[in-house]
Amino acid sequence: MGIWEHKDSMRSIEFAKEHNLATKCFFCKSDLEELIDSWDRPTGKDYPGSMVGDTCNASVCPVCGWWTIRKCSMDSFSEYLSYSKRAATATLKNLDISDQSTPIEDVKSFLTAKYEARKIVDPRLFEETVASVFGQLGYNARVTAKTKDGGIDVILDGPSNTIIGVQVKRSKNFITVSQIRELVGALMLGGIYTEGIFVTTSDYTSYAKDAAKKSTDNILPVKLYDAENFLSALHASQRNKYQSKQELLETLQNLNLHDIDKRTFDKK
Ligand SMILES: [Zn+2]
Repeated sequence: MGIWEHKDSMRSIEFAKEHNLATKCFFCKSDLEELIDSWDRPTGKDYPGSMVGDTCNASVCPVCGWWTIRKCSMDSFSEYLSYSKRAATATLKNLDISDQSTPIEDVKSFLTAKYEARKIVDPRLFEETVASVFGQLGYNARVTAKTKDGGIDVILDGPSNTIIGVQVKRSKNFITVSQIRELVGALMLGGIYTEGIFVTTSDYTSYAKDAAKKSTDNILPVKLYDAENFLSALHASQRNKYQSKQELLETLQNLNLHDIDKRTFDKK
């Protein structure tokens, strides 16, 4: 179903006016990719020095899928020149990410676009998001059964027979040293793990970081992802998701664009 929509409301017109010439994504700040950049000047000689014709630009964010499109036309009449600029940008749908039935691909795109929503995402959906991100990054990832996870939420099979146990914690609070000890305990009791990863939507206390380092030095490697590290992994996993652009192009070309600027000039 996707997370973007095109609205005909006044608010969306204001948004298009403000963000139409953007080079960075309004939502996730990634560099936009140009989908169309064309210029048609059929009657340029009618009025020397003027830019008579049409231009069209459309760009999409390769990470979250936000898009923006603009068409300008300059028409020459006998006594007048008229200029019009029409545009549209995508607006974010109000996706319910506290609902477990929301499709995971939409959840990932939504979190990329609006990362503060990680604080309200359903915890199970967040585990699935983590599994999907690592899956996209090359691991064979699976979410463990809810009741008998033994403290491990996601299992990753990596290269050279590595088996990584992942603990996922959607939390507003810092992860404490005892939570790291629990993970190390769960990894050891599980008996199959070669490494551990902790992923949280917040951050770690310095004691928690020390505990992870001690485990890495003496027991088994434990890597910590805080909110920022996980956002980078999410971005990396989303990149190129919007590579197949034909469908988007067709949608954009058939949009009913908003008038955002219209002027008429006297030629004399
Ligand atoms: Zn974006």
